[in-house]
Amino acid sequence: MPYGKLYIVSTPIGNLEDITLRAIRVLKEVDVIAAEDTRHSRKLLNHYGITKPMISYWSEKEKVRSEEMIEKLRSGLSIAIISDAGTPGISDPGAVLIKRAIDEGIDVVPIPGPSAAIAALSASGLSTEEFTFIGFLPPKTAQRQKRLNELALEPRTLIFYEALHRILDTLSDMKEIFAERNAVLAKEITKMHEEILRGTISEILDSLENRTIAGEYVIIVEGMKRENVQIDIALDEIRALMRKGKGRKEAVKIVAEAYGLSKKELYDKSLEG
Ligand code: SAM
Repeated sequence: MPYGKLYIVSTPIGNLEDITLRAIRVLKEVDVIAAEDTRHSRKLLNHYGITKPMISYWSEKEKVRSEEMIEKLRSGLSIAIISDAGTPGISDPGAVLIKRAIDEGIDVVPIPGPSAAIAALSASGLSTEEFTFIGFLPPKTAQRQKRLNELALEPRTLIFYEALHRILDTLSDMKEIFAERNAVLAKEITKMHEEILRGTISEILDSLENRTIAGEYVIIVEGMKRENVQIDIALDEIRALMRKGKGRKEAVKIVAEAYGLSKKELYDKSLEG
């Protein structure tokens, strides 16, 4: 008996119409649907008249459930995994099973569709030439700020997911660390209250004043622009790295490479004060 296939099926991030014909067909044809939360996904499946047996693989049970699903796949059953919204494995469970299936030589078939990150980026107006997906930042302030500091020199567009109760804190930290960069806050994409705020980080923060923060949000921030970097910002970065224990030469090398500046010029300037 050949192994069954594992389908990674993207589902809507709000609007139930955002599902591909292929995704519906696959969900109707597989033997089992593995859902992050079966109760949540039932609504979508009912909408499309899909009545397949479901199993839950929510993150705390992901390891144990993955082994059960591997057994089913080995016995020839085909499985589709879906998450609560968007693409499984993207800031959602799924990775454990996918990795195990690959190790077992089971076919893993992507059924592409929505993901909040790409939907938000596509409408952001920020550079899509090169971008980097960060997903959720650490929830604790000190760790979040540390992570943002690590990203401060990143020249590519940055994409973040964030829980609604941390949106204001995270944007405030970004204002401190990324300064006056352009950003986009994409709220409730594909849903009734969809809204896309564009501006500098502080403009976005100002426009949130006196408003109720509700719903789901993607934050997109412009990458550090090499051509706009002033030498004193680069010097600040060098000082910050040196405070963290790097030697002057090493700090100059890191910053010069990140900003595309001359190492010698930066080194000489860093000695001036
Ligand atoms: N797997 C999903 C995907 O492919 O986009 C992401 C799931 S992650 C647990 C949930 C986060 O995605 C939310 O906190 C929010 O940052 C973002 N998100 C999901 N749906 C969204 C929507 N309709 N509008 C804005 N952000 C959304």
